[in-house]
Amino acid sequence: MLGGNMKQNRKTRGIQDAVSRIYARYLYLLGFRTSVVTDATGLSESQARNLKKELKEEGIVVKDQPGPGSMADGLVNSRSGYLQASILMNIYRSLNPNAERNLDLESVIEAYSIYLKEIGAIFRNSIDYDLSAEGFERFTIQQAYSLAAALRSNDIDYSASMRECPDCKTYFYFTTRQTVVDDCPFCNWRVRSISSGTANQNAALP
Ligand SMILES: [Zn+2]
Repeated sequence: MLGGNMKQNRKTRGIQDAVSRIYARYLYLLGFRTSVVTDATGLSESQARNLKKELKEEGIVVKDQPGPGSMADGLVNSRSGYLQASILMNIYRSLNPNAERNLDLESVIEAYSIYLKEIGAIFRNSIDYDLSAEGFERFTIQQAYSLAAALRSNDIDYSASMRECPDCKTYFYFTTRQTVVDDCPFCNWRVRSISSGTANQNAALP
């Protein structure tokens, strides 16, 4: 009887290991760093790195991401980054209402896929040159993760929050250490679009 239970436990553990490995492969394929993969799966760093090696041996492209990774404040230090982070984290927070307390990896993945689908359309008709068509750089999924991690973080120097704009009532992403101006990226974008639109019209006049 006891032997039967042990056998059952071993079998269950084998299945759990297999599930962890499959999930880890999935996370690597999406583009996450090893630290995210080990956190999410409970695999050790060497187990995760071995899996990554296996993927490469299978001819699958897995990006190496050495170094400490992006800090949220660095990602919002351009107008485009500031606006994109605000859009992406609004999507993320609608999927994970507890974003200030928990980092939900599945919500990050889903928010990122919605962001990728929508961001081109959002900027496509922008008159603002920096943001039009292909003129901006999209975030990677790992960068999306860093933004979400800062939102949850209690570390004063590296934390981020969603602030409500008093004018347009939209929430925007704000990090405590960012050097870019702290006014609302959505209002800023609208003002620039309107003024550059006017400038273009004037330029077209004889
Ligand atoms: Zn605003």
